[in-house]
Amino acid sequence: METSLPVADRPRRPEWMKVRAPSADGRYFDVKKLIHGASLNTVCEEARCPNIAECWGKGTATFQILGDTCTRACRYCYVNSGKPEHAPDPLEPLRLAQAAAQMGLKHVVVTSVDRDDVEDRGAGHFAAVTRALKAKLPDCTVELLTPDFLGDEERALTTVLGARPEVFSHNIETVRRLHRRMRGAKASYDGALHLLRRAKEVAGYPVLTKTGIIAGLGETNDEIVETMRELRAVGVDVVTIGQYLQPSSKHVAIDRWVHPDEFRWLREQGEALGFGSVFAGPLVRSSYRADEQKHAADTGIGVVAY
Ligand code: SF4
Repeated sequence: METSLPVADRPRRPEWMKVRAPSADGRYFDVKKLIHGASLNTVCEEARCPNIAECWGKGTATFQILGDTCTRACRYCYVNSGKPEHAPDPLEPLRLAQAAAQMGLKHVVVTSVDRDDVEDRGAGHFAAVTRALKAKLPDCTVELLTPDFLGDEERALTTVLGARPEVFSHNIETVRRLHRRMRGAKASYDGALHLLRRAKEVAGYPVLTKTGIIAGLGETNDEIVETMRELRAVGVDVVTIGQYLQPSSKHVAIDRWVHPDEFRWLREQGEALGFGSVFAGPLVRSSYRADEQKHAADTGIGVVAY
């Protein structure tokens, strides 16, 4: 059982983790109204992302498809977990594409809850969303951050990549030693590496592959570097590394605050390993400034400094 420190003994949030509150200056409230009005979910809200004021203020968001209930229960994740009540909504792709068009997005990031209860694990819905986006916004690029498609990986990859997203992303989340403890028995570290390797092989076009690592769950910096080495060995192009924030007292406690200098060092290690883009910083999340991550990898700018 997890032992939590008494509140008074918990490490205080350091200065570099402070974020600004939503304000009426930017587009925050317009985005909120649009998304709620279209009955769409975002991981920005569902996962309590600390960057929501910045991202929504700039008019961007990351859509979360396939409902608001996840069939897994990772120990760091705030997204609602349980038995989903509804089948995938066939009108969601259209609503999402319309919302993306109204927001004027040029790079659209779409993720989902895990749907182990659905026959194709939600792969067909990801493909439908991608096709709807490309029909509505022919010039936009699409980034899909998918679950592991447990037990149906090959067929799911064929389906999803058949819609030709520009970026295929699957988060490895943590280092090998902690993976099972944090993600449960259904998820697998080697399975995540396999999915990322097969995505490039199955695609048949130059898809960018991408993954994210959470720091502060009990790993060491050397273990993160070892994970990056394994990710490069399967051809991953883009990696993000950001600080874990405990979303509630029921979730696993923060093990450490990773200092910005450590993130800088991790970024340098990633650069030396040959990633097209490494975003590493306290508030970095997989979808944080995702358009810039893609641009960095596409143009060979490489590592972007924070
Ligand atoms: S970093 Fe991603 S999840 Fe967080 S607010 Fe921005 S777009 Fe949403």
